[in-house]
Amino acid sequence: MGREIGILGGSFDPVHRGHLALAHAAREAFGLDEVRLLPCAQQALKARAATRAEDRCAMLRLALAGERGLTLDCREVFRGGRTYTVETLRALRRELPGARLWFVMGMDSVADFPRWREPGVLVGLCEWIVFDRPGVAEPAAVFDPRLLAHRLRGPLCDVSSTAVRRQVAEGGAMRYSIGDLEARYLRARHLYEGTSP
Ligand code: ATP
Repeated sequence: MGREIGILGGSFDPVHRGHLALAHAAREAFGLDEVRLLPCAQQALKARAATRAEDRCAMLRLALAGERGLTLDCREVFRGGRTYTVETLRALRRELPGARLWFVMGMDSVADFPRWREPGVLVGLCEWIVFDRPGVAEPAAVFDPRLLAHRLRGPLCDVSSTAVRRQVAEGGAMRYSIGDLEARYLRARHLYEGTSP
């Protein structure tokens, strides 16, 4: 039988507990063999310049150590430039013939989807798993019903990278948002200090 591979793409700037909750929930609910976390170089739709890829990948490595079934795939950051999911999925399908691919994302990404590159092609390249996100309603018009074929509802995790960056800039507690090792890493390198979140 082919392998069932989940893909969680994002900026991971920085990785937080919401990402891990999303990946584990998808893996358990849909019996996936593995969920790959795939940081992008520079997300096409985000205005803010991302923190250096080396730092985002290093924090992901710390966060994923000991997390069963979650792996890290840094291909997009090494390729550099803008990140287009459609290209990454084409490459993964070539590399993993016989595997079924499941793209995992939060509800906020469903609203963005029509602005992704080649959305009409992309939607047919994999299965889609969508997780509810606190404060984000289902869009009134969804690009394609296949996007909402596999829904994951709760438990919700009210964390975002924006909130973590704000916590760092304001000197707030991060204990419930990110892991201790990642917190230590970003403090040691003064990441996100004095920047607008
Ligand atoms: P930012 O606050 O900088 O926009 P983010 O917290 O949304 O970042 P990303 O790395 O952009 O993090 O997210 C990658 C994917 O994970 C997206 O599909 C996003 O919807 C999803 N995601 C992130 N946090 C959560 C969460 N708390 N609950 C559900 N989905 C989430």
